[in-house]
Amino acid sequence: MGNYNNILDTPIEYVKGIGPSKGETIRKELNIHTVGDLIHSYPFRYIDRTMFYTIADIRTDGDTIQLKGKLMSYEKIKGKNNRYRLQGLFKDETGTLELVWFQQINWLEKILHIGQEYIVYGRATIFNGKKSMAHPEMELISEVNTNLTKSFDPIYSSTEKMDAKGLDSKARRKFIKAILSTMTEADYPETLPDYVMQKLRICSRFQALQWIHFPLNEDQKQLAINRIKFEEFFYLQVLLLQSKMYRKHKYKSEPFPIIGASFNTFYHQNMTFELTSAQKRVIREIRVDMGKTAQMNRLLQGDVGSGKTIVALLSMLIAKDNGFQSCLMAPTEILAQQHYESITTALGDMDVRVSLLTGSIKGKARELILNELADGTLDIIIGTHALIEDTVVFKHLGLAIVDEQHRFGVAQRASLWKKNDDFTPHILVMTATPIPRTLAMTLYGDLDVSIIDELPPGRKEIKTIHQYEKDRPEVIKFMRNEIAKGRQIYVVYPLIEESEKLDLQNLQEGYEYLLQYFPMPDYQISVIHGKLKAKDKDWEMQRFVKKATQIMVATTVIEVGVNVPNASVMIIENTERFGLSQLHQLRGRVGRGAEQSYCILMTGYKLSKEARERIATMVRTNNGFEIAEADLKLRGPGDIQGTQQSGIMDFKLLNIGQDRAIMDAARNIAIRIIENDPKLEKDIHKNIKRHTIELSKKNRDWARIS
Ligand code: ADP
Ligand code: MG
Repeated sequence: MGNYNNILDTPIEYVKGIGPSKGETIRKELNIHTVGDLIHSYPFRYIDRTMFYTIADIRTDGDTIQLKGKLMSYEKIKGKNNRYRLQGLFKDETGTLELVWFQQINWLEKILHIGQEYIVYGRATIFNGKKSMAHPEMELISEVNTNLTKSFDPIYSSTEKMDAKGLDSKARRKFIKAILSTMTEADYPETLPDYVMQKLRICSRFQALQWIHFPLNEDQKQLAINRIKFEEFFYLQVLLLQSKMYRKHKYKSEPFPIIGASFNTFYHQNMTFELTSAQKRVIREIRVDMGKTAQMNRLLQGDVGSGKTIVALLSMLIAKDNGFQSCLMAPTEILAQQHYESITTALGDMDVRVSLLTGSIKGKARELILNELADGTLDIIIGTHALIEDTVVFKHLGLAIVDEQHRFGVAQRASLWKKNDDFTPHILVMTATPIPRTLAMTLYGDLDVSIIDELPPGRKEIKTIHQYEKDRPEVIKFMRNEIAKGRQIYVVYPLIEESEKLDLQNLQEGYEYLLQYFPMPDYQISVIHGKLKAKDKDWEMQRFVKKATQIMVATTVIEVGVNVPNASVMIIENTERFGLSQLHQLRGRVGRGAEQSYCILMTGYKLSKEARERIATMVRTNNGFEIAEADLKLRGPGDIQGTQQSGIMDFKLLNIGQDRAIMDAARNIAIRIIENDPKLEKDIHKNIKRHTIELSKKNRDWARIS
């Protein structure tokens, strides 16, 4: 295969039987360019050829099956379209099956032997009331028995163009088989040290490569899958942990040794509540980090309402006490605005200068803010992505806090560090909702993690109830009662992505329906949706905040950034259309005051299994971490909002919803290795080092980690 040092780097067209034309198709269709790419494109399933069906219990669900029996007869039949087909009769001890071929008839007539035992292999259907199989593969039993590799057949994904070029799954199987048969362990050396292999009892890398394509039995298949999954995660972890170590050495931040007047005044005079012990623990963790010259890189996770904002504020006050500025970056304008308001309110008349900078702040006002940031007048700036822009220059940014709303991305985070020439700010990333541990390990594996696992005291657990359309009269009655007690109510409609028109119609109908039961002037209803101008949205919102209206009918625009403690009922319409984390976010809008709060999930009768599961999860638990885990299991990582953009998540086999045990093992071993040998200089780790470098060269997103 040419003069390539490594067989894996050989261009695909040099493989015997592929050539330039087929090679081009494979490159275009599957993004496979080298032999390495080809053998690393694994089967997406296998057909168990150790198993035989009988004709009596034949499955006609489209799956490929195999049968053992005798070819009784065949004949050439002229069809209506004047074309011939070959029709055979196949029999086992349980029944008969019709076999049909439309192509290669002459050839088949030559090679098929009536009266012989065959294994037939294909997809069965019912045709004209008879069990039938079109274009089955036929193998003489006498020949098959000697062919041990027939135990599991790998099935590879294909495309129409691939099939047309003779590059279907079967052809790929042949190519891969041929390639693997020429390879030795030297072409595909082990990368893990013996002690890790022994500890994990995993098969060798070379073995895994053979078995993932051609397992002889279920055990081999599983061993290969586990080894490859481990490997997919292990090297990513090595890279993340190395980058974490590296940053600790390379990036210097200004240490904040002082807990001074701002922090103390605020803590002792302005705070209207006692911090929860979880909040206290997290602030301690942050203080320790910020006390060092090594840059803090910390992820703060906490459920909706767990009180992350106050932690952010206290951290920013520490920065101020040490003579540094801070910024707090939120994902949306509404959220930035809300942070700004709650932080300025909390600070009261303290001598801390805070401003808000978003895309919609322009002209003179913007200029003033930029000047005050540059000359150090401002202590704290709160804003959106506008903060990253080059025009935003700080005098001395000491702490950058990012409030992330499903917006992950290792690379984006880095953009805030570059704000100073000679030192980097400490970084605190807060997630808006909890994310599952496996996802956190993947996306934030290079950060230290703090978790607020406790809600402020006095909160009553929100009662969540599932109701059907027929229950609506009860729901209306319940709403009236709550309003009579002085409470306020949200009624939320889903965004219908295909049609904004339908959205509004949905919302409009809901509003008119409610008007019948909650007529003016006794009742007032606010309506908010995405089409409203910001000014009108604000006005409607303010009416609700001031209790001028009792009901707020809205689309999901209220998901983010609404805080009305007197609102105690959240009614979600068409609940089945919402994802779990969104439902949890919405529910988090209530339960903010002292009153018992309720979340009512309205649905129709027809619900998918998954929708039922989501609703059951919501009814069962208020715990955001539990919900995040359930969400990941139900939807898989690819569907979790925001994760798609991250190329880090491109695992071939690993499923972060299901492979937690493997991921834990991989992370733990990576931690031990990196703690013990940060630069991978020891001889036993040299292969890990080489392999990690190789992988990060190949994967663009991995390369951006450091
Ligand atoms: P999130 O973690 O969702 O950002 P917030 O920071 O917005 O939560 O806090 C939610 C509410 O809880 C706010 O009104 C905040 O003032 C209040 N809060 C935060 N910590 C405490 C506490 N320890 N005791 C009582 N109330 C608290
Ligand atoms: Mg928050």
